Amino acid sequence: MEQHIGTKCVQGGYTPANGEPRQIPIIQSTTFKYETSDAMAKLFDLEESGYFYTRLANPTSDAVAAKICELEGGTAAMLTSSGQAANFYAVFNIAGCGDHVVASSSIYGGTYNLFAVTMKRMGIEFTFVSPDCSEEELNAAFKDNTKAVFGETIANPALTVFDFEKFSKAAHAHGVPLIVDNTFATPVNCRPFEFGVDIVTHSTTKYMDGHGAQVGGAIVDSGNFDWKASADKFPGLCTPDDSYHGVTYVERFGNAGAFITKATVQLMRDFGSIPSPQNAFILNLGLESLHVRMKRHCENGLAVADFLKKHDKIEYVNYPSLEGDKYYELAQKYMPNGTCGVVSFGLKGGRKAAEEFMKHLKIAAIETHVADARSCALHPASATHRQMNDEELVACGVYPNLVRLSCGLEDSEDLIADVAQALEKI
Ligand SMILES: *Cc1c(COP(=O)(O)O)cnc(C)c1O
Repeated sequence: MEQHIGTKCVQGGYTPANGEPRQIPIIQSTTFKYETSDAMAKLFDLEESGYFYTRLANPTSDAVAAKICELEGGTAAMLTSSGQAANFYAVFNIAGCGDHVVASSSIYGGTYNLFAVTMKRMGIEFTFVSPDCSEEELNAAFKDNTKAVFGETIANPALTVFDFEKFSKAAHAHGVPLIVDNTFATPVNCRPFEFGVDIVTHSTTKYMDGHGAQVGGAIVDSGNFDWKASADKFPGLCTPDDSYHGVTYVERFGNAGAFITKATVQLMRDFGSIPSPQNAFILNLGLESLHVRMKRHCENGLAVADFLKKHDKIEYVNYPSLEGDKYYELAQKYMPNGTCGVVSFGLKGGRKAAEEFMKHLKIAAIETHVADARSCALHPASATHRQMNDEELVACGVYPNLVRLSCGLEDSEDLIADVAQALEKI
């Protein structure tokens, strides 16, 4: 019987046997004991699955990864130590020096830096396209050496909505998978695999944890991408890996398991960005209430966005679930039950008004974080984007008067009252 998303949030990934702990045990052990060298050899040869060293696999992390896999409707998943590591592994698993990737230009700043600066230094070239581009513009971005397409369901902080069907159609026509960072929507509000996405990543630091308690990431494979059909593009998956006993991942693990197995036994082995078992446990506590919390985050986001939209000191509001928003139709198509709790808006009176507004907030704290139980706000022009002048800010869509407000789980009346009193002071 296929369970609903809330039941999966609470119970997915771990089913204790008779007399075993009800809660996922924290296996805080680097290593695991075997009776014979032969038994261990089978694990190294990937002939049997089992644990031997926590850098490669740990039962606590695996249980939490299995829950996220169920939530997304995938075939295999892994945890990483951060969202940055998840996005790096997801792309680097199939693109190397001399390869090319098409990415949406509307993505998290940290991911943009990873792609445009650090991975570029590794010899991987990125072409950034607007999420609103036409099919012609999108198709023109592909090259013979393109290995993947990358986007973000709801972009942080621009709050643009990614058109899965447009991008997956183009990716598949060129024989490459579509990778999507689903951090802001979470699988409660959006399951990208249902719309043609092949691989999903997460910063679990955000809503999945939801309490600002751990930094983490996850990668989930839909199992739908046919690697062998584009075997010449993906030698890492379709030809023997000399660094791992000559295993050919697609032959041994099929489309359902090849991508995550390779990312684990090759990339995690070599880069080692694992979460601690303790952090995986904390993440699971967040996941148990994700479906309850997302509903409240979305209700608060919509209430605050609606209030701001009607306020005469506000120039514009960006919130994809608000009627009239540029992305309202796309959001309704892919996320009819809600998007996220993050709202951005611009104050009349420019940068000065935004700076003044921030000084008077009492409930929302000034933080670079988002997607937390406690509301927080950021004025990017004086924080994350302060190295840019006003012209540069306008060019990248982060206007000098823009404030980003992440609505937490407080009562919406109090959040609105807080915003209202801060607006009165300017
Ligand atoms: C925060 C964030 C990341 C990076 O995640 P970390 O856990 O901070 O490394 C990646 N993508 C999105 C959409 C994010 O919001």
